[in-house]
Amino acid sequence: MKCNSIVMVKQVPDTSNISGDVMRPDGTVNRAKLPTVFNPDDKVALELALDLRDRFGGKVTAITMGPAKAGELLRECLYMGADEVHLITDRNFGGADTLATSYTLSEAIKQLGPYDLIFAGRQAIDGDTAQVGPQTAEKLRIPQITYAEKILDLKEDGILVKRRIDDGYEILESSLPLLITVLKEAATPRPFKARRLMALKRARTRLELEKEAASPGELEKLIADYASKGLYIRTWSREDLGIELERCGIEGSPTKVHKIESVVLSSEGHQQVPPTSEGIGNLLDSLIEEHFFG
Ligand SMILES: Cc1cc2nc3c(=O)[nH]c(=O)nc-3n(C[C@H](O)[C@H](O)[C@H](O)COP(=O)(O)OP(=O)(O)OC[C@H]3O[C@@H](n4cnc5c(N)ncnc54)[C@H](O)[C@@H]3O)c2cc1C
Repeated sequence: MKCNSIVMVKQVPDTSNISGDVMRPDGTVNRAKLPTVFNPDDKVALELALDLRDRFGGKVTAITMGPAKAGELLRECLYMGADEVHLITDRNFGGADTLATSYTLSEAIKQLGPYDLIFAGRQAIDGDTAQVGPQTAEKLRIPQITYAEKILDLKEDGILVKRRIDDGYEILESSLPLLITVLKEAATPRPFKARRLMALKRARTRLELEKEAASPGELEKLIADYASKGLYIRTWSREDLGIELERCGIEGSPTKVHKIESVVLSSEGHQQVPPTSEGIGNLLDSLIEEHFFG
């Protein structure tokens, strides 16, 4: 049994090192200045797909919907061992909420041919909604298993997955194809292979080659040349996918992110709690009073 997998990966602002000039005077974060990273859960999702390919054979395809900059993320997928990568990018995809994002990704997946498994991270560290995986499965009308922490077995007619639940775990069996969202603890991503990095660091998307080409004709020649060397990162625009503008990007998004503010914890207004039962009792009373719990 071969296993062909598609992995949905996202490039996210590195919210773990917010400092210096990314902080605006009003305490909000200038996201455009944040360095970007490979969404941690997605790197683990890619590792699970690569591991299954190494054990059963097949192909691993990584896809991302993102701006031109996301070419970097796809090169990292190649360095880890992905066989194929695709960039889904278009100005019309900007401002997409999870409904529009999952619509666009599901339409792209329909064009990538047959697959046995789709892997996604449980959630992205920026939007944090954990919605895109399940929504994509719904649009593709395939079953889904979320919060997966281990693939126990894979056969022609099905798969066995261990998933985390609140007070423990459960073992689920499913037919294929299936979409799985993966927990960060499910595996340790393999390091980039130096040989692959040297061979594939010149891989380019259409948007990156556009910067090198003086004319549309020259661009097509460049793409053909890169593709012949296995260095062209397939790039899909809304037109290439043939999908509805009204369902993409901000047009297709009932949810609009109005403003993102980071909670800046300051030292003002803190109080010392004496480590006595009375002290802690008073603290609990005030927390209940302020409806923090109870
Ligand atoms: C602070 C903040 C709050 C937001 N709140 C909402 C909200 O309440 N509702 C809403 O609809 N939108 C919201 N958004 C917009 C939302 O972030 C985007 O729609 C985003 O593209 C997908 O949602 P997510 O980041 O929550 O991803 P999640 O649903 O958490 O991502 C889960 C997995 O889906 C895959 N995935 C997600 N995005 C992509 C992509 N672009 N390409 C490939 N794979 C991908 C990855 O495998 C990822 O691990 C918010 C954005 C921000 C920054």
